[in-house]
Amino acid sequence: MRPDVLLAGYMTVMLLALVVLWIANSMRRRRFLSGPAEDRVFRCLKCGSVYTDDPDVDLSRCPQCGKMNESFDFRA
Ligand SMILES: [Zn+2]
Repeated sequence: MRPDVLLAGYMTVMLLALVVLWIANSMRRRRFLSGPAEDRVFRCLKCGSVYTDDPDVDLSRCPQCGKMNESFDFRA
């Protein structure tokens, strides 16, 4: 194989790798931006600990004392 063909192939592979990385990166960023809403904030009624959990749960267990708490909305 001629060295210039080899070089051209090498450049093409590098370019493709860059494009793939760029696409993967932008997809990850988009998923991050439009992903599930912010985590729900919970405040423990027993020990006062404030923590977060998935937005689709209504009750979450306190990591400090284990009490189940309802979601707490700062904006309310
Ligand atoms: Zn607690």
